[in-house]
Formats: sequence, structure tokens, C-alpha cells
Amino acid sequence: MYVRFWGTRGSLSASITARQIREKISRAIRSFRSRNLATDEEIEAFIDRDLPFAVRGSYGVNTACVEIGGGGDCVLCDAGTGIRDFGNAFMHSERGRSAAVFHLFLSHLHWDHLQGFPFFAPAYLPGEQIHIYGGHPDIEQAFDRQQAPPFFPIPFGGLGATIDFHTLDPERPHRVAGFDVHMFLQNHPGGSYGYGFVREGKKIVYSTDMEHTTEAEKEKYPFVDHFRDADLLIFDAQYSWADASGPKETWGHSSNLLGVELAVRAGVKRLCLFHSEPTWGDEALDRFLAETRDYLKHIAPASPLRIDLAYDGLEIAL
Ligand SMILES: [Zn+2]
Ligand SMILES: [Zn+2]
Repeated sequence: MYVRFWGTRGSLSASITARQIREKISRAIRSFRSRNLATDEEIEAFIDRDLPFAVRGSYGVNTACVEIGGGGDCVLCDAGTGIRDFGNAFMHSERGRSAAVFHLFLSHLHWDHLQGFPFFAPAYLPGEQIHIYGGHPDIEQAFDRQQAPPFFPIPFGGLGATIDFHTLDPERPHRVAGFDVHMFLQNHPGGSYGYGFVREGKKIVYSTDMEHTTEAEKEKYPFVDHFRDADLLIFDAQYSWADASGPKETWGHSSNLLGVELAVRAGVKRLCLFHSEPTWGDEALDRFLAETRDYLKHIAPASPLRIDLAYDGLEIAL
């Protein structure tokens, strides 16, 4: 099994400017100056080992889309702008040579989780099958409206693929594409849903657009059970603790620190911070990840929890 992140930003896509790229190049060359790197291999190793991620890479631009792979059919969470890159890569891969079945699980219907769908290439192809799942009763209307005039030139009804909508009951377990799927309601404006995916003894939890409140301090907090023993927890950590408990309280997102606390309580093996603040650049996100790891050392020094910050293109094998 693997998880591949195609879109990781929250709320809005985030561009990277020419000036920011120039700054990365400048920092890389300055780091390079004092080294004596003779071969291509030494240069590659230097990049991976010695340059911070903010210099050698970028956390990316796309809004939410996560692929959960390793089974047969394609399983995706959310259709933010990242789904466009997934669709294009899929069409150019071996798997894209024949008709495919896609299972798309939606957290909710805010734009940053839907807006990539009109650019999802397989949706235009007769023979492709797309199943869209969620807890909201009006998913089909939302997809229809986002492509209605004057917002988009091709109406939803003009897409070539066969598209079916499925409203799931959070009280019941579901089995889709070889996964046992457990859906749970979350605290977010308009409501959102998280998902647990279990297959071959591995558990992945996708929990974005969720604001954990002081309820999380209770011993019997249901989300500890939702996250229990997950091999990977993808967690909405758009805010710092100061923002989440101050000016952005009730905006529907959570902090990195709460993610660490809940992951430790639930015995999670790997925590991936997700739905990154679109106004933060790569250096700010590097610091955010470092602070999150420091917090784990502070509250649970012996914890084996691994913490990452999702970026477009990150792949995690489980
Ligand atoms: Zn969102
Ligand atoms: Zn939202």
C-alpha cells in the first residue's frame, strides 16, 4: 500500500514566485560554495543531505487530493486542484491504457476539495467509471453547479465518464475497492467527514477540515478511537496553536500541536500534517515541521511517532 499526495494546501492553491525560486537557487549555491563536490553522485547526495527542504524543494501549490494505492481500482480522497495532476499522470501511465474505475471520497463540498474535478482528464472519457462518495446529501448538485454556466464551459452532464454518487452512512462500515472504510462526522462549517481505510492489516486515516475543540481534552474523545493505531494519520494542521486558539478559532481547522497530542494518545505510527496554510512559504513550513517535532520531544520524548508535513508529490509506502 502507498499514499501519494497530489495536493496538500488548504483553502486555496498557493503559487510560488520567481523571486522565491531565485532565493532557493541563491541559498543552494551559497551552501555549495564551501564544498568540494566532484561527481554528480556527490552533488545529488549533497542536495538530499545538506540542503533544507525549503531550498531543495517546495511544499507545493495544489489543493487537497490524496491517492491511496496498492489495491486494484484507484482510490482518491478529495478533488482539489491536485486531482488534475493525478489524472494527467494516470493517463500517461500503464494503468491509463485501459478503462479504469475511480473511487473518490469527499470530505466535504468546499471549493478547495472540489475545484480540480472539471480538469480531471478521465472524467471526459467514455468507458471510465467514477464513483463519488461522501456524507453530504447534495454532492451531485454541487458538482453540477460548479460546471454550470457561467462558471465553466463544459457542463457536468457533458462529461463522458459514467459517474455515480453514493451518500454513505457514517454509522455503518463500508467495503470499497478492497478497503474497509469507516466514515466519521467532523466539526467544520457545513460539516465534513473523515475516513479510515483498512486493508491487509494497515490503517490509513484521512481527517482534514476538522476543528478539534476543548472537547479533545476529554478522556473518551471519539477521535482518539477513530485514529487508534493508525499506520498513517493525515491530519488538518493548517494553523499554529496561537492561531487555532486565538483569531482563527471556529474557522474549522486545527493546530499541529493538537495533532501531535491526539496521535500520541491514539498510538498512531506516522503523522502527516496536511491542509497547509496557503499564505506560508516553504521556509515557514520547514519551521512549522521542526516546531512540531520539537513538541513531540517535549510531551513524549520516548514516542516512536514519526511526523512529516505533506507536500505535493510526497509518497509514503506502508
Ligand atoms: Zn479545505
Ligand atoms: Zn472546508
